[in-house]
Amino acid sequence: MMRLIFEIAFMVFWIGMFIIRYPHAQKNKGNTIQKDRKTREEKILLAMTSLGMILLPVFFVATPFLNFAIYTLPVVVSYVGIDLLVPAGILFYRSHWDLGRNWSATLEIREEHSLVVSCIYKHIRHPMYTAIWIWVICQALLLQNYIAGLSGIVSFGLLYFLRVGKEENMMKLQFGEKYISYMKSTKRLIPNLF
Ligand code: SAH
Repeated sequence: MMRLIFEIAFMVFWIGMFIIRYPHAQKNKGNTIQKDRKTREEKILLAMTSLGMILLPVFFVATPFLNFAIYTLPVVVSYVGIDLLVPAGILFYRSHWDLGRNWSATLEIREEHSLVVSCIYKHIRHPMYTAIWIWVICQALLLQNYIAGLSGIVSFGLLYFLRVGKEENMMKLQFGEKYISYMKSTKRLIPNLF
């Protein structure tokens, strides 16, 4: 019974994340792309995150086929997962809002791309990735399945580690000294408190 509640909580959150992203995806569709860094590797990684964060979770919740790979965590751990959904949602919403027309799901520079260094970006360089890290951790805590629960961490982890350095290099090339000094005053995923 608790298992079902945790799964429902995660899927409600999951739908919420798509609702947050949808208007930005629609709005930014019309933007002209100036530099496209969407390599083949990036396309494969994006397809893997779709599998790990979209298809497998839905397949697990909607069908019994993955039930052979279930694990059980202590209830208190799952409650931690439920609590973490809130900061993940807020960060995801806030980072989309702050990036505005500069946001895209992949690596690219748009026409009139401006460097955002205020609001949430003043404190963290990659708040959207922080939000997605919390999201995939919650996936493992709430969808207790070796395949559908862990596929988020594995697929997003791969995308993150292979992409973040490239993204920063792309930003350095585009914004030069401005981005380099921005890097000095921020950390990638957590606020720079000192
Ligand atoms: N890594 C950021 C943004 C992810 S969206 C985060 O986690 O919050 C990816 C796109 O955002 C990239 O194509 C890049 O062009 C753009 N981007 C990343 N950081 C940016 C910034 N500080 N200002 C403007 N655009 C940025």
